[in-house]
Amino acid sequence: MTDDAHQDIRDGVRTLCAQFPDAYFRAIDAERGYPEAFVDALIAAGWLSAMIPEEYGGTGLGLAAASVIMEEINRCGGNAGAVHGQMYNMGTLLRHGSDAQKRKYLPPIAEGKLRIQSMAVTEPAAGTDTTRIRTIAVRNGDRYVVNGQKVWISRVQHSDLMILLARTTPLHDVTQRSAGMSIFIVDLHDAIGHGLTVRPIRNLVNHETNELFFDNLEIPAENLIGEEGRGFRYILDGLNAERTLIAAECIGDGYWFVDRAVKYAGTRVVFDRPIGMNQGVQFPIAEAHIEIEAANLMRFRACDLFDAGRPCGAEANMAKYLAAKASWEAANVCLQTHGGFGFATEYDIERKFRETRLYQVAPVSTNMIFAYIAEHVLGLPRSF
Ligand SMILES: Cc1cc2nc3c(=O)[nH]c(=O)nc-3n(C[C@H](O)[C@H](O)[C@H](O)COP(=O)(O)OP(=O)(O)OC[C@H]3O[C@@H](n4cnc5c(N)ncnc54)[C@H](O)[C@@H]3O)c2cc1C
Repeated sequence: MTDDAHQDIRDGVRTLCAQFPDAYFRAIDAERGYPEAFVDALIAAGWLSAMIPEEYGGTGLGLAAASVIMEEINRCGGNAGAVHGQMYNMGTLLRHGSDAQKRKYLPPIAEGKLRIQSMAVTEPAAGTDTTRIRTIAVRNGDRYVVNGQKVWISRVQHSDLMILLARTTPLHDVTQRSAGMSIFIVDLHDAIGHGLTVRPIRNLVNHETNELFFDNLEIPAENLIGEEGRGFRYILDGLNAERTLIAAECIGDGYWFVDRAVKYAGTRVVFDRPIGMNQGVQFPIAEAHIEIEAANLMRFRACDLFDAGRPCGAEANMAKYLAAKASWEAANVCLQTHGGFGFATEYDIERKFRETRLYQVAPVSTNMIFAYIAEHVLGLPRSF
């Protein structure tokens, strides 16, 4: 599918983003705030319910269209990291939730009355090896009692609901290490202060992310999503959409960096000529553009496969890898092109530079993508 198929979406998101100029995001970044007004506007316009089927009040768009929404936010100078959880977390509910859960949660999410921005998987001791998570949920009558700890869990303070992955059978009692984990919907208003403690982590990016401490948190048993013990599989099912959406954000960043570099290189005069007249300045910008365009093709390939209901694990991973690398390289080139001014907050480059760096680490680090391709595409032996 070509870009042109989404021109209406691009125009709509751009019009909305135009109300939130660079100065808005710069001020939010400086105060380490959350772009509430921007998120409210996105929700009110229905952009964040793009992937919720129409029967639940959403727009029922596919991944390609949803990815364009995320791309445009970043391309306009914003950061979809403040909201992207809302775009893909509902997919877990849609694919694996019961009819009752879908009817209860999806319509208010689509209407913007409930936010499902958070997914809690990562733990300090387990790291990337998710099968080693220690947070445990023990069934006790009509409730599960949760104990444990999570780290780097984003948007908890700006969400109503969170999807939680916890062990329901300890690792030593399962025959397959990916078994025995389950996912739950946590109502954050009920949980915080009643068994769940949230400790913010100040970090490189203005990204609201937290340590979570579970101390006998009680969750109604009806909040279990799908079957007990199959949670790891359910989380994996959502990763292709997540990776492809993040790839689109990186592509939006990449175009933003190249646009800014081109504008500056064309107007900044040093030695009596625009700096962009020098091949040493223009070639790296051209190279960054080429790499973004190539990553974009893989992103739409992943989207097309996903939307056709076909396997797209390889393409989603490759798109995420290529796009995160291309946007980071474009960020470096943009900063270099601006010389000293690239470091000034008022140019927004250092902010976007920090933001785009995240995507080589989260939500999946580059090495894990290499491991996936080596094992699942190339048939090399499993390395861990
Ligand atoms: C700002 C931010 C927001 C986040 N938001 C969320 C969230 O909302 N929810 C959530 O669940 N998580 C979230 N995360 C966590 C993120 O998904 C993890 O940080 C990421 O998956 C890497 O895990 P780790 O930090 O434990 O690194 P580790 O697993 O400790 O790995 C450290 C480094 O070693 C490499 N490495 C480890 N093992 C191997 C191996 N076998 N072979 C080769 N290389 C290896 C990794 O690739 C990585 O580069 C977030 C992280 C950040 C920084």
